[in-house]
Amino acid sequence: MNILVINTGSSSLKFRLFNYDDLKLRANGLVERIGEAKSDFKMEWNGTVKKTNIEAADHKAAFQVVINELLSPECGLIKDVSDIKIVGHRVVHGAEKFLKTTIINDDVIEQLKECIPLAPLHNPPNLMGITAAKEVMADGVPHVAVFDTAFHSTMERESYLYALPYSYYEKYSVRRYGFHGTSHKFVSQRLCEILGQGPEGLKVVTCHLGNGSSLAAVKDGKSIDTSMGMTPLEGVVMGTRSGDFDPAIIKYIMDTEGKSIDDVDKVINKQSGLLGISGISNDIRDVEDEAEKGHERANLALDVFCYRIKKYVGAYAAAMGGLTDIIFTAGIGENDPIVRRKVCSNMEFLGISIDLENNELRKTERTISTPDSKVRVWIIPTDEELMIAREAKEVVESTVAVGK
Ligand code: AMP
Repeated sequence: MNILVINTGSSSLKFRLFNYDDLKLRANGLVERIGEAKSDFKMEWNGTVKKTNIEAADHKAAFQVVINELLSPECGLIKDVSDIKIVGHRVVHGAEKFLKTTIINDDVIEQLKECIPLAPLHNPPNLMGITAAKEVMADGVPHVAVFDTAFHSTMERESYLYALPYSYYEKYSVRRYGFHGTSHKFVSQRLCEILGQGPEGLKVVTCHLGNGSSLAAVKDGKSIDTSMGMTPLEGVVMGTRSGDFDPAIIKYIMDTEGKSIDDVDKVINKQSGLLGISGISNDIRDVEDEAEKGHERANLALDVFCYRIKKYVGAYAAAMGGLTDIIFTAGIGENDPIVRRKVCSNMEFLGISIDLENNELRKTERTISTPDSKVRVWIIPTDEELMIAREAKEVVESTVAVGK
């Protein structure tokens, strides 16, 4: 028996198949360029990699291809669609409606549609994935929504309210929600497993640094603050997103350059961040390559990127009244020693000291702090899909009887 996890974007569908009992990964893959004349399909299982072109006019067709491939004699991971017991769906924005992992029914779908104005880019493709999977799978298979925002629902009002007219919050739900919750939760729980203890007493800053980046202050296992806001634009510097900046700049640029609000929105989401400052790339590897050759703005982009993260670490130590652990995760957090070194430099006053040699090693999960560092510093690879499978299984088992 299996759990299938899917994560849909506007033209993509990522999937992972997990064994039901022990949640071991059995297959993973993706469909890209959905809606184009030819779509790309890739799947890996048992050391085999299959890449092919397929026809996928929409997400339903793409999902059907995934199921057909899993059923195919070549792959043979499932014998019948009924071998998939649960489908877990990543949903970006749950607003204040969904504070935890939720089994999807018609009412939930209606409420998800009501969340679209808060996440117009992310929630519609997530909904397309849900609709597609429900149409292809047999009736009675539970579909479960796991929300990026849910882990941060423990934030207090002092951290989630913007100092705007209170009526905006009351009427339009304008507040900070935070994202990457599945990742922040996964790595903070993994830390407890490594330490062999519960979350009580831990004051952890989790740094999810990837294509999008966010930090969270996780106290006693609960998120008390996080750097992203009502949308994923707020917070630290990202590949193409600005992160925090003075909102008055929007009007200034509109007036000065005669830009429309949509133009400026595009600038702050797609043309800023590492790309905006460096003028080179949104990928930190390219920026670092140029910085090493002495490219001034590449160096500047790296400095701003790391300085902003450092500031958040300090702020969250203050918010939690101390700091026991820092976790680096996601594409940059797991793989980039330069960023980790710059973020942790001159932080001895907070009890942070990292072993520079260990920091450089190409190894996975480990601590990189020195033995005498008061704060433990970790690299913990994230696994959002596994977390989705785990949560989906938990909620289904606690709600309905599942035949294994
Ligand atoms: P993610 O969103 O977690 O998949 O992270 C993707 C980002 O991680 C990419 O855009 C790169 O900037 C970064 N990344 C991936 N591999 C490396 C690496 N080996 N060194 C530095 N950065 C990396």
